Amino acid sequence: MHSERMQDRQRLHTAPARLIERLHQQGIPRGVILDAIRYVPRDAFVSPDLSEVAWENRPLDIGEGQTISQPYTVGFMLQLAAVAASDRVLEVGAGSGYVLALLSYIVGDPKLVTGVERNEILCEQTRGRLRELGLDRVRLMCGDGREGCRQHAPYDAIIVSAQTESIPPQLTDQLAPGGRLVIPVDVGSYAAMTRVVRGPDGLVQTRHGAFQFVPLV
Ligand code: SAH
Repeated sequence: MHSERMQDRQRLHTAPARLIERLHQQGIPRGVILDAIRYVPRDAFVSPDLSEVAWENRPLDIGEGQTISQPYTVGFMLQLAAVAASDRVLEVGAGSGYVLALLSYIVGDPKLVTGVERNEILCEQTRGRLRELGLDRVRLMCGDGREGCRQHAPYDAIIVSAQTESIPPQLTDQLAPGGRLVIPVDVGSYAAMTRVVRGPDGLVQTRHGAFQFVPLV
C-alpha cells in the first residue's frame, strides 16, 4: 500500500519532466518553449477529474464541447510563430487560457498578451482562472476572433487555435512588420498548419504539416 502511494506521488512529480522529454524527442528544441510548458501547470486548466492525465501529450476536454490542444501541437505552433521575449501577441480561440499562460511566460509580460474567445461561458471561466493564477493583466476579449483585436494591434505573433477554411484578412492586417500568423487551414480531410509572415515585400505563406482542430465558428 505504502509503496503504491509512493509510486503515485513519484509519477505525479515526474509527469512534467516526462512530457518535456517526449516533446523534445518529437522535435521541440530545448529553450523557452519547453521551459514554459514545464512552468505552466496544465492541470490548472482542466477540470479536477482530469488533473491526473493533465501532463499527458494529448488534447483534453475543457467543457462546452471544446478541447485544450495537445502540448506537442501548442509547442509546434509557438515554435513556428517564433514567439520571443517582449513580443506583442494575440491568440484567437483562447479556450481554457493555457496558451495565454504559455505566451505570458515566453514574452515575459502578461500585458503584451491578448486573447479572444467566442464562447461566453468559457470566456468568463477563463478570466477567473487567469486571475487566480496571477495573470489578470492578460487581456481576454469575448467575441469573434476572426476580427482579431484592433485595439491592441499590431502583433508580432498571432496564433489561431481553431481551424478555418480561409485566412481572415483582418488577422494579416493586424500583423506588425516581420509579424507571424500561425493558423490551421482546413484543406479537406485535415488542417494544414499555415504560417503567414509580413515580410518587406508583402505576405509570405508556407505550410507545415497536417493537424486536426475544432473549427473556428
Ligand atoms: N487554445 C485553447 C483551446 C482552443 S479550443 C486552450 O489553450 O485551452 C478552440 C477554441 O476556439 C474554443 O474555445 C472555441 O470556443 C474557440 N472559438 C471558436 N471559434 C471562435 C471564434 N470565431 N472566435 C473566437 N474563439 C473561437
